[in-house]
Amino acid sequence: MKEVILIKNGELALKGLNRSTFENMMMTDIRRRIEKCGKFSVTSSQSTVTVSPEDGSADIRSAYENIMRVFGIAAVCRCAVCEKDMDSICRTAEEYLKDRLTRAETFKVEAKRADKRFPLKSPQICENAGEYILNAFPGIRVDVHNPDVTVHVEIREREAYIHAGLEPGAGGMPAGSNGRALLLLSGGIDSPVAGWMMAKRGVSITAVHFMSPPYTGERAKMKVESLCRKLAGFCGRVRLYEVGFTEIQERLRDSCPEEIFTVLMRRLMMKVASQIAEKAHCKALITGESIGQVASQTMDALVCTDAAVSMPVFRPLIGMDKEEIVRIARKIDTFDTSILPYEDCCTVFTPKHPKTRPVLADVIRAEEEAGDWAQMIIDAADGAAVAEYSCF
Ligand code: ATP
Ligand code: MG
Repeated sequence: MKEVILIKNGELALKGLNRSTFENMMMTDIRRRIEKCGKFSVTSSQSTVTVSPEDGSADIRSAYENIMRVFGIAAVCRCAVCEKDMDSICRTAEEYLKDRLTRAETFKVEAKRADKRFPLKSPQICENAGEYILNAFPGIRVDVHNPDVTVHVEIREREAYIHAGLEPGAGGMPAGSNGRALLLLSGGIDSPVAGWMMAKRGVSITAVHFMSPPYTGERAKMKVESLCRKLAGFCGRVRLYEVGFTEIQERLRDSCPEEIFTVLMRRLMMKVASQIAEKAHCKALITGESIGQVASQTMDALVCTDAAVSMPVFRPLIGMDKEEIVRIARKIDTFDTSILPYEDCCTVFTPKHPKTRPVLADVIRAEEEAGDWAQMIIDAADGAAVAEYSCF
């Protein structure tokens, strides 16, 4: 039986003249992602994209799994394709939806006619196919309000499509439709989720990770690399900058008041990151901060961190509770990696009593007194190692 995948655009439909640009980006992403699943054609008409197998090499199941991760897709389904006559339609529905209809107690048929020349109108198609299914599956009843299974019949120009309804897709905006930003990626739970949330809105992601050997080890680094691989599953490609942060942290430890160590460290991270962002053509920074979560994420601490750079800092988790963040981390499969217990540079030299209400002017003064950072920032950014992760 011939099968295709039907894809409905999300917000794309609302974007006026930009619509075709967005749709093309989404189709490019779809094509790249299913390339390894065999030969398919990807075509679009009337805000529906159709993915059809071109030959026997095409693995529709794995294509479907890959398509479920493409941002910009509101809803998606697999459907059977048949001749445009009621006999084929009924037999195809019986065979294609056999498992579901056998298990179901109730069903209904919904018909849509894109081809108005088709001799039966939608209510007649429903009646006709409904009758056939009632005979084919003993014990099943019609329930038009709350059926276990809805049999969809779509009459297209050339063929008829049969399916059991659309599933929600990944949502959001197509990859690359909203510029590029630099994600500060620790090994923790929050930052991969923050990256995913921005990627979902069409932002291309580049990542930066700070490490402080020998205080942080090889396994912490491998953990971040594995998170990049997971993120690449959604974003397509992720480039990672790995920054040696030991010298800056040691200098801070030796030369600043202990209770503002963390806030100064966060500011220096932001400064190095914004330096890398410029090199890597990123227009903004992204962090996994959430207000009040820890001492460095109080309102006053965030004010101090934010003032370190002139570039916008996006914090998509700012208003979320930990449980909400964890739920997403599980959904995107980063949670189990994130909870591996390796040292992050943020836990190196952490003060026992960090100031929860740092005052920006005092922080800036302490930072200036602690040393001349300009060259150290440039050196850290220039010395970063670069690695690439791709899902294609
Ligand atoms: P996460 O779970 O993302 O590690 P967190 O709740 O542990 O966050 P912090 O450790 O204070 O919070 O870090 C706040 C944010 O700073 C992180 O979400 C991340 O964006 C960034 N960050 C922290 N440590 C690093 C690091 N080693 N490399 C890159 N970015 C980092
Ligand atoms: Mg952390």
